[in-house]
Parts: sequence; structure tokens; C-alpha cells
Amino acid sequence: MTQPLIFDGHNDVLLRLFTEGRATAAQGFLAGRDGAIDVPSARAGGFGGGLFAVYVPSPKDLDSQLEEMLKDTYDMPLPDPIHWEDAFPVVMAQAAILFDLEEQGALTVCRSAAEVQACLNSGILAAVLHIEGAEAIDPDLNTLDVLYQAGLRSIGPVWSRETIFGHGVPFRYPSSPDTGPGLTDHGLRLVRRCNELGIMIDLSHLNEAGFWDVARHSTQPLVATHSNAHAICPHARNLTDKQLAAIAESDGMVGLNFAVAFLRSDGKKLSEVPLEQMIRHLDHLIETLGEDRVGFGSDYDGALVPDVLNSCAGLPKLRAALRQHGYDDALMTKLCQGNWLRVLEKTWGA
Ligand SMILES: [Zn+2]
Repeated sequence: MTQPLIFDGHNDVLLRLFTEGRATAAQGFLAGRDGAIDVPSARAGGFGGGLFAVYVPSPKDLDSQLEEMLKDTYDMPLPDPIHWEDAFPVVMAQAAILFDLEEQGALTVCRSAAEVQACLNSGILAAVLHIEGAEAIDPDLNTLDVLYQAGLRSIGPVWSRETIFGHGVPFRYPSSPDTGPGLTDHGLRLVRRCNELGIMIDLSHLNEAGFWDVARHSTQPLVATHSNAHAICPHARNLTDKQLAAIAESDGMVGLNFAVAFLRSDGKKLSEVPLEQMIRHLDHLIETLGEDRVGFGSDYDGALVPDVLNSCAGLPKLRAALRQHGYDDALMTKLCQGNWLRVLEKTWGA
């Protein structure tokens, strides 16, 4: 049979294209670029699209961070908060690149599950506009309402950083995700408005208290777009079995993150990761969440990923390993796209 295209819960290609410059972004994305996602690699790897994150980077020294995450234990401080005035233009610039890509025919910006399905049927890349860290959203939520009209369908109230809405979980190993206070009153209002509009709330970078606040107040299925199993890798960014049980209870889902520090049992940022280690996470997620609540959330173009999968052109190697491990056609279709389609439709409405 033909392999189902992979719809993926998280990538940061818009950040990369923004860093490289808007002028050449669409051209590089269409013709091929030095990165994890572009049109030729997607075609080669059976990558059908996913959530395209808009993310405001913290000014930081990447080299010192990498060194820290090679140690046996680490506890990176949360970066300073970013003000609305600084975040908003960056979000506009990255979203503008997404719409450039659409204008040039590289992808379609999808606003409904039916549109995602139509893209996966026709083979054009499906892109969902996602914001990772809500620094660009003002306390009155005016920007949220306008961005929704522009196509925003998913948001993380925080990246691993504090916002007016809540507190991010730090890059800390080993550690429980219970690292600080929960959502603020602004955060609870954000949850309510996202529920009203039909914007998915992403739990991936929230600390545990924030996670439980969303669980208590949101009417949507609980979703972590790019997170792994704490039972396999005890990183603060990963989800405990108790959190996974709550996600299952809500009929939500988790996308497997390819970031090596969240895959490796020793939490180290080293790219030698066998596919078997990814399968250990998937097996655990499937065991706790059920076959209908697991998908992929690669973090492509945003994280160091296993050598064998360093671009989406490498995804056939993952498929082959999963087949060999015994995942059948029905399960593969669910993991690759079926579960995401179900949760998106349930969250956004038909
Ligand atoms: Zn992330």
C-alpha cells in the first residue's frame, strides 16, 4: 500500500526562514535548503505538513547552552520574559513568511480539519499556524482575536519562559515537571477565549501546575504537540504517567518529540540516538494513551534530532523501523495522520 503522509505536531521552520531572511525564504523552501524541512525533502520523506510554529527567540548563547546539556545533570535558568512590544513584530514577520510560502504555492495554510485532510489527499503541504509562547498576545486578547481571523488555530501559552499567562518548564534533567506556579488570571482568560474561538491549547512547554490548570478549565481535548514520556527520559519537559492519564481521559493526544535531550534516557544533547529509543517512547505512549492518542511532533528545524532523521527526507527510516517493530497498517495510519485529524476536528469543530 502507499504510505500515509505524516502530519506532524511541531516544527520551527518559520523561525529558521525568519533568521535567514524573508527575501530568500520562499525560494529556499521551494528549491531545497540546508535544514530539516523544505518541499523536496518533504516529498522525498512523505512529510505531509503539520503545525508550523511562530516563535520569538530569546537572546542567548547557544554554545554555552549546548555544553551545559552534555553534563550528567543540568538545570538551565528560564530566560528573561519578552515584552509584547518586542514579540509582536517578530510574530508578524514569521507569519508573513508563512503566507509568502502559501502565495508561492509551497503549502496551504489550513483553518479546518477538512482542509488538512484535503491537503493530505492531494499531496500539497498542510500548514497550521501555531504560536509557541504567547508573548505577542496582549492581556485584552485583541491580538488573539485578530490572529484567529488570520488563521491562528493553535497556541502554547508559554515556551520555556514566563509570560503574563503562565510559567514555562525549564530545561532541567533529571527533574519532575512540577517546577513552579500555575496559570495566571490572564492565563485562565486565554484558555476560555481559545475554547470559544476553537484555538487548540498546546501543553508542551507548560510546567505541571499550568498543565493541571488547563486540564481543569479547558473544554478541549488535552494536547501536548511535542513531548515525550517521563518514564523513559526523566526530563522536566516530558510528561509523567499521571499527566498522560489525564490526556487519555480527555481524549487528547501527544506528538512524539524527536529532540534528542527528551528522547535519551540520560537527557544529554547528543545526536547518537538509535531508532529503538524512539520506539521505547512510542510504545510507552501507546500503552498509556492508547493507539488513538499518539502521533508525531518532530521539532524539526528547532531542535537537535537523531542523526538518522536529521531531515524529513529521512522519515522512511522511521516508518521502516516501526513496521519492523510490528506496528500494522491501521496503527501506522493513526500515528502518521489519523489521530491528529481526529483531535484537530474535535478541538476546532467540523
Ligand atoms: Zn518547543
